[in-house]
Amino acid sequence: MKATPVSFEFFPPKTEKGRDKLRQTIRSLGIFNPDFFSVTFGASGSTRDRTLETVLEIQQQSTFDAAPHLSCISSTRVDTLELLQLYQDAGIKRIFALRGDQPSGMVGTGEFHHASELVAFIREQTGEHFHIEVAAYPEMHPESKSTAKDLDNFKRKVSTGANSAITQYFYNADAYLDFVDRCDSAGIEIPIFPGIMPITNYERLARFSAICGAELPRWLHNRLQDFGDNIDSIRAFGVDFISRLCESLLEQGAPGIHFYTLNQAQASTEILKKIGF
Ligand code: FAD
Repeated sequence: MKATPVSFEFFPPKTEKGRDKLRQTIRSLGIFNPDFFSVTFGASGSTRDRTLETVLEIQQQSTFDAAPHLSCISSTRVDTLELLQLYQDAGIKRIFALRGDQPSGMVGTGEFHHASELVAFIREQTGEHFHIEVAAYPEMHPESKSTAKDLDNFKRKVSTGANSAITQYFYNADAYLDFVDRCDSAGIEIPIFPGIMPITNYERLARFSAICGAELPRWLHNRLQDFGDNIDSIRAFGVDFISRLCESLLEQGAPGIHFYTLNQAQASTEILKKIGF
């Protein structure tokens, strides 16, 4: 029987120290035999070269597949095609197609407006070479006017050629299960992997969640706030709570798990071990 798929997301490090740390993280997480390690792409291509370098290092110097994220909001077709060709030549087989967000105060200069246009462009230029991942939002994308419109837009990414999706993180299993049910009713058949954000630091999590529109339920807010500066207690609570969330999602049919690691191995490792990986 094939093991439950697991994958891990990194950001491209800026310094040699960060690169060394990521190499260690990759070695530690390698024990879970992940399907792939993905590497984010900074807003408006700000990490283009670092993403490329990190992805090539993983692909060429480890036994694991690397999957670059590629956002399109500030890109031209020519730049995008150049990157796709570099990835294709390096043997990369999976790519994460995103719209991305414009840094505040910047005016859009790109030729793409939505991720579905990038998905269509990748298919048009590279055929079936890439397995294309797209983003999904169980609690609705923060710019959307309604869950129905958001689902239509998600469906467009699938019909233009996405093979699977990874969700924004959430702490309420029902949001994911309801979203998957609605996708099913809308005839969307691709696997939708829950994106899991381990809990290790309350303030950073609250800040991230406010930016990306992921809900921190009130009870969770309160519990985390009560731990104050006690990082060890937050970590222990986080591992327990997220392990239960993952178990419940897998029991109810989630096809696997994708971890937002923030380049740290410890929390994902503890969670996966706790749930029997
Ligand atoms: P889209 O699918 O284009 O959707 C964006 C909004 O536009 C939604 O509200 C949607 O409903 C609406 N929409 C879509 N199509 C249409 C249409 N035709 N007409 C009208 N409205 C439409 N960002 C980065 O910059 N780099 C990363 O590496 C990165 N990695 C991510 C990984 C994951 C797992 C997730 C969930 C998000 C990631 N993001 C990343 C953030 C993402 O770029 C933002 O959430 C962004 O706001 C939306 O990107 P998208 O690809 O979902 O866009």
